[in-house]
Amino acid sequence: MISVEEALERINQHATTRAPRMIRSVDSLGLVLAADIKSDIDSPPHDKALMDGYAVVASDIVPGVELTILEEVTAGDVPTKPVTAGTATRIMTGAPIPDGADAVVMVERTEVVGNNGTTVRIDFDAAQPGLNIMPRGESVREGDVVLRSGRLIRPIEMGVLAECGATEIAAYKRPSVAILSTGNELVPPEKRPNAGQIRNSNGPMLKALVQRAGSDAVNLGVGRDERADLDRLVQRGLEEDVLVLSGGVSAGVLDLVPEVLASNGVEQVFHKVHLKPGKPVWFGIKQDPRGDRLVFGLPGNPVSSLVCFELFVRPALASLAGQAFGNVERRTACLATTHSRYSDRPTYFPARLFERDGQPQVEPLAWKGSADLRTLADANCLALFPPSENEFAAGVVIEVFLI
Ligand code: AMP
Ligand code: MG
Repeated sequence: MISVEEALERINQHATTRAPRMIRSVDSLGLVLAADIKSDIDSPPHDKALMDGYAVVASDIVPGVELTILEEVTAGDVPTKPVTAGTATRIMTGAPIPDGADAVVMVERTEVVGNNGTTVRIDFDAAQPGLNIMPRGESVREGDVVLRSGRLIRPIEMGVLAECGATEIAAYKRPSVAILSTGNELVPPEKRPNAGQIRNSNGPMLKALVQRAGSDAVNLGVGRDERADLDRLVQRGLEEDVLVLSGGVSAGVLDLVPEVLASNGVEQVFHKVHLKPGKPVWFGIKQDPRGDRLVFGLPGNPVSSLVCFELFVRPALASLAGQAFGNVERRTACLATTHSRYSDRPTYFPARLFERDGQPQVEPLAWKGSADLRTLADANCLALFPPSENEFAAGVVIEVFLI
């Protein structure tokens, strides 16, 4: 059986970034840039006022100086008169600085005098040239690379793209992920399970995990443990970049997923990984001219499904989308209480990470095993306990994975 590290290495080999395409930048939130972005203008595009006040010649400013008001310029206007010694233009934040002016005195330090309002008195000791002015191009020069290829597009990047006129950009496609829950016992959440049945909790959970990972989820619903039904749904699932199945990969008589995948041309890369929970996890690929299809068979127990998704599927989705393979945040923390449930397999144990006296501490929860999703809901991390024959004493440092 291979280790988690070996499994990740093999997934990484197959999780190659998909071809980029052109997309409207307003639709690009969460995508990764596939080319550098250059600005088509200087920004700001003109020397601009950073205050409401008066545009003046800085050398004019001495306490109590009176200047003749030439005109009023608001943001969106263009000044028509040059400012010369002894004159000033009333100016609002964002408006272009008139020729000749090299400082803006804030309105709070001024007073309009005379009864026709044509003169302003300035109550300011001295103005340095450049006072309250942002020069043209100070933030961005035309032709500058403002965002590099590989940058994740967050709301801030969307603003920069707009500022720099990049309305169509090259970006990696959001991976599409088909989700197929398998099991004769599964009923939808709105139904009360009859004898022998359980509700399909993996379907909604995996869909949400896919969406939170920034991919598009295509929910294929529930597949029965029959070759024909699984065959049809697997074929449909292989239309997407990634197919994630839950259930049917263990050693039961109706665990048909591996053979149905094989008969649909999906090549097994590995089956079973040395970890707990999640040992039966299956991974394979199907070659496809649109980009090889990645297929993950996650064990049916919900906690195993979640652990395997976080460990194996999420890093692969990041890589397909142009980000680094990985993406799961790891920390170290001190074990807050003694932990005596040990195993011969590395165990990802539902736990709570918190701080005490500024130190990260992790407390394993009273988890009842792979089917106990309810306890996992109280966890904010998985504590990784390496294989051991001894208990883990309070205070030892262990690795945790944020979920
Ligand atoms: P399997 O991996 O198909 O052997 O399933 C292992 C366990 O997980 C069984 O107890 C199943 O009933 C349960 N299980 C399988 N699929 C789901 C699901 N979609 N939601 C909740 N439990 C499931
Ligand atoms: Mg099953």
